[in-house]
Amino acid sequence: MPIKSFEDLFIEELSDIYSAEKQLTKALPKVAKAASNEDLKKAVSDHLEETENQVKRIEKIVKEENLTLKRKKCAAMEGLISEADEAISSIEQGPLLDVALIMGAQKVEHYEISAYGSLIELAKLLGYDAAVDLLDETLGEEKGADSKLNDIAVSGVNEDAQEMRASL
Ligand code: FE
Ligand code: ZN
Ligand code: FE
Ligand code: FE
Repeated sequence: MPIKSFEDLFIEELSDIYSAEKQLTKALPKVAKAASNEDLKKAVSDHLEETENQVKRIEKIVKEENLTLKRKKCAAMEGLISEADEAISSIEQGPLLDVALIMGAQKVEHYEISAYGSLIELAKLLGYDAAVDLLDETLGEEKGADSKLNDIAVSGVNEDAQEMRASL
C-alpha cells in the first residue's frame, strides 16, 4: 500500500520499530550469553526485559489510538543483528568480543533512539497524545541503555581490553 499521508507514515514507521523490537527480544539472549564482563551481561539482560515491555507498549499504542500495524520486517535491525552474530561467531569470548558486542549494541540503541524520536514528532503532529507519552517512555529507556553501555565500556571493558593487550 502506498504511503500518502502522515498517518500512513506513522503506521509504517511504528510497524518497522515493532518488528525491530521483536527481533531484539530473540537476539539479546544470545548477546548476553556471549558477553564475559558481568556488568555487560547484566545490562543486556536488563535491557531484554525492557525490550519485552517495549513490544507491549507498542501494542498498547495501537489499541489506544485505534491503529492497525502493517506486517513488515525491519531490514535495518536484521542487518545490525546479523553483524552482531558475525562478531559472536568470529571472535573468541573475552574483552575483544565484549568491545565488539558493545559497539553492536550501541548501533542498535542509536537506531532505536532515532526511530522513537521521529515517531514522537509524528505523533505530536497527528495529535496522538497517548502515543506521545508511551513512545517517550521507551525513548528514555533506549537512551538509558545507550549511556549504560557507554559507562560499562569506560569503567570496565576498556580496562579488560588494556590488560588483554598488555598480556599479548
Ligand atoms: Fe527497544
Ligand atoms: Zn527499522
Ligand atoms: Fe528501518
Ligand atoms: Fe533498546
